[in-house]
Amino acid sequence: MSLSGPLFRRVEEGVFTYLRPLGKHGPAVASVLFMGTESVLAFDTLCGPRDMTFFSKMAGDRQVYVAYSHADWDHCLGTGAFSAPVVIAHEFARGRLLAPVHPDLETVRRESPDLVAGGEFVLPCLTFTNSLALDLERVPHWVPGDSGRRRQGALRHVQPVLTGDPSGRRIEIRHLPGHTADSCVAYDVATGVLAAGDAAEDPFPSIGDPRSLQVWISGLMEWAARARTVIPGHGPVSGPELLKRNAQYLRAVMGIIKEAASKGLPPENLDDEYGLQKAFPEIMERLSSMDPRDREFYLETHRENLFRAWSALS
Ligand SMILES: [Zn+2]
Repeated sequence: MSLSGPLFRRVEEGVFTYLRPLGKHGPAVASVLFMGTESVLAFDTLCGPRDMTFFSKMAGDRQVYVAYSHADWDHCLGTGAFSAPVVIAHEFARGRLLAPVHPDLETVRRESPDLVAGGEFVLPCLTFTNSLALDLERVPHWVPGDSGRRRQGALRHVQPVLTGDPSGRRIEIRHLPGHTADSCVAYDVATGVLAAGDAAEDPFPSIGDPRSLQVWISGLMEWAARARTVIPGHGPVSGPELLKRNAQYLRAVMGIIKEAASKGLPPENLDDEYGLQKAFPEIMERLSSMDPRDREFYLETHRENLFRAWSALS
């Protein structure tokens, strides 16, 4: 996808996306806003507060939840645009955000300072291990000590407590590792929209946590049976077929590594034998209609995927 400026889009009632081009740093990245009557969820805050200005205005005086699909720099630097958000992330994402150095982000700060201008990590005040549910038609009560006030400082250690029957606007946030160990997805039960972060990507995802490959593939197939619309972190809004295509690619990579190991093929020869041109002609076909910079990005991502999967599985 070739884009010069950011792009706002209504996907369906109560679901919006905001797309930020990343220039030489990769294909454009999307944030998803789920709007409810009482609260909103921004799933990812992209590269800086500027990227969230519009979503912040749309939220008005509703309670804002922010959830990070994972802690990569292009997904979580714009949280400062919201006043007093409740920030949610997987427990491993918190650990990643607290790391003393962030080499990828430092590179972007040096090479493209405008892209991440004003961007800062805001730590989650709420973490989860497997899943967490939000209700966008209800206002949460806060734990004692916070007195229900929405002051910035009061929200450091809150646990939203919901009572009564769930409304129709329930969002499920579920761990789905594989791109990274801290990756998660958000599913809107009312609309069937799945915001997939980088757990799904068009034409294929980047494997950063190869030990979770099997869990990742199973998870993608489960969501493919449930979701009606899929919004990947990078790539156009799609249907469940994107999840199936991604699962098929990941399964093929696992098969390649098994075959390469049985042949005793050294890792430096993997791309010659199993590069996109040779082993994935249908993906090469899709790449041919892409911006040359994005095409190069995915050729390199596939090389890295093979190498990382080989290191973990062979
Ligand atoms: Zn990303």
